[in-house]
Amino acid sequence: MARYIGAECKLCRREGVKLFLKGERCYKEKCAFERRSYAPGQHGQSRRAKVSEYSTQLREKQKLKRVFGVLERQFKNYFKKAEMAKGITGENLLQLLVRRLDNIVYEMGFASSRVQARQFVRHGHISVNSRRVNIPSYLVKSGDVIEVNEKSRQLEGIKAAVAAGEGRSIPKWLDVDRTNFKCSVVSLPTREEIMLPVSEHLVVELYSR
Ligand code: SF4
Repeated sequence: MARYIGAECKLCRREGVKLFLKGERCYKEKCAFERRSYAPGQHGQSRRAKVSEYSTQLREKQKLKRVFGVLERQFKNYFKKAEMAKGITGENLLQLLVRRLDNIVYEMGFASSRVQARQFVRHGHISVNSRRVNIPSYLVKSGDVIEVNEKSRQLEGIKAAVAAGEGRSIPKWLDVDRTNFKCSVVSLPTREEIMLPVSEHLVVELYSR
């Protein structure tokens, strides 16, 4: 599937917020956003006179897509699903995105970025309820148990990622057992438990145009 292959840091600077796309670097002084928090490009530092409503909504959608590394078509599908589900569309949308298996692997602190988590899943290092799953967009459910496969636990890349993830705060809706490379989904997260810097209602407004 096509992916964005440009500089990730530019995306943070474009959206005006840290999206944590580059693993450990994001938590250090080297973070490009910490050094240059203005938009990239020649006119990045010039003040924009007026930002339209459409532009604000669009930026919010782009931000959400970029956090999860999801392309437009897939994102629209998530939105349709969220619209059809009971409850508040924006919150449903966020819940669908955070339930992605690659996001869970990242949130449990077993990968330094969602990109790395996606790679771990694709390469068959992760199981859900004791069955190997290599689909990053797989949606986990409440009660599911996610774990790093036994053989994969010895891989240097995994060991380094797990060590680096130590100390990172874990969402309350996940119960992580670092010793056994396991995590169970206690319950699906409420909006308050989804710590994302997005105003999802703007995305809903954009698609309702
Ligand atoms: Fe964004 Fe900073 Fe990470 Fe680069 S290093 S992806 S600017 S958070």
